[in-house]
Amino acid sequence: MSSIPLSRPDITDREIDAVITTLKCDRLSMGPRQARFEELVAERAGRRHGIAISSGTAGLHLLMLALGVQPGDEVITTPFSFVATANCALYVGAKPVFVDIDPRTLNLDVDKVEAAITPKTKAIVAVEVFGNPAGMDKIEQIARKHEIALVEDCCEALGGKLDSRPVGSFGRAGVFAFYPNKQITTGEGGVIVTDDDNLADLCRSLRNQGRPIEKDKSDAGVTNRTGSWLQHERLGYNYRLSEISAALGIAQMERLEEMLSQRRRVAGLYMRRLMDFTDLILPNVDQPDLMSWFVFVVRLTDQFGLTERDRVITGLRRHDIGCANYFPCIHLQPYMREMFGYQKGAFPIAESVSQRTIALPFYNRLEEMQVELACQTLKIMLDREKLLKRA
Ligand SMILES: *Cc1c(COP(=O)(O)O)cnc(C)c1O
Repeated sequence: MSSIPLSRPDITDREIDAVITTLKCDRLSMGPRQARFEELVAERAGRRHGIAISSGTAGLHLLMLALGVQPGDEVITTPFSFVATANCALYVGAKPVFVDIDPRTLNLDVDKVEAAITPKTKAIVAVEVFGNPAGMDKIEQIARKHEIALVEDCCEALGGKLDSRPVGSFGRAGVFAFYPNKQITTGEGGVIVTDDDNLADLCRSLRNQGRPIEKDKSDAGVTNRTGSWLQHERLGYNYRLSEISAALGIAQMERLEEMLSQRRRVAGLYMRRLMDFTDLILPNVDQPDLMSWFVFVVRLTDQFGLTERDRVITGLRRHDIGCANYFPCIHLQPYMREMFGYQKGAFPIAESVSQRTIALPFYNRLEEMQVELACQTLKIMLDREKLLKRA
């Protein structure tokens, strides 16, 4: 295979066997695998409860509902993330209030968060962008001081730590996601984590059509269908995760350490190889050993702009090197502009960063030769841009 994809899931015989074994059982939803998977993720985040859901986006939506975020409320969040981070506020009729980012960490600028708080602020949704947890502790302090709920969108940072605290342990609740490009995958899926018993129960009910929560977890699936199965206490959703996905998730969680260290290895290869590329800004990580690498994103220096960056991406792809423009700013997406009238220049740091980022191929089994190939091709593309500038 000559092409190098942007990302690739890491599935071994262990995962395949776990899925096949599950398929031979009668219980394909809401069984022991869901419970075990929830336990493993919650444990890793240092939380009492895990609630498996069908996607990270579903988890963010449920948390907005469970925290009582409503029309007229404001939710403070970042313009530099995957859209789901801000969409969850829109799902419940609230307004996302964007705050510009720190150009070093690419996370919310902590100093600007406090100034954005108003009497209408109901929640802060903060992200560990590309897996970097820097600043989450400070945002937690601000949220606590103002008695506002902090939701940790930790969809990109499973297994990471900030000092001695695990990612997923900040604020009222967090959400992990397991789409195939994340650190671990369940195909589609996610887990909400929290220490709050009532919030956990509410999320369990909401993900399951508003049914009363299963007091006896072992009896939650098939047998319960006669009793409370058609009783709905509130408007709920079907955001459940299947046993098949949970089985895949358990097998992945059991290999998490190995996978995180593979990702650190690949990040290290890139760091060393790109260290003296003067046209690039490399990821700025305070605690490299504690970081959970989601993607490897470089940024062109500010002598380049959107046109050059997009041409470099096209050039890399033409040479079968997978890459992406993580992330276009959320506030400049067409529907956001239409709803809130955002113009270019509203969040200058996020915009400036987002015009110059390139996510390079990044997955557990990426080999040194492939990193070399990606970096050499990138070098050619950058040199080409410099020549074009002079012409
Ligand atoms: C992946 C991701 C999500 C949502 O994930 P899905 O499971 O695809 O719904 C949310 N927020 C961030 C920051 C993500 O990277």
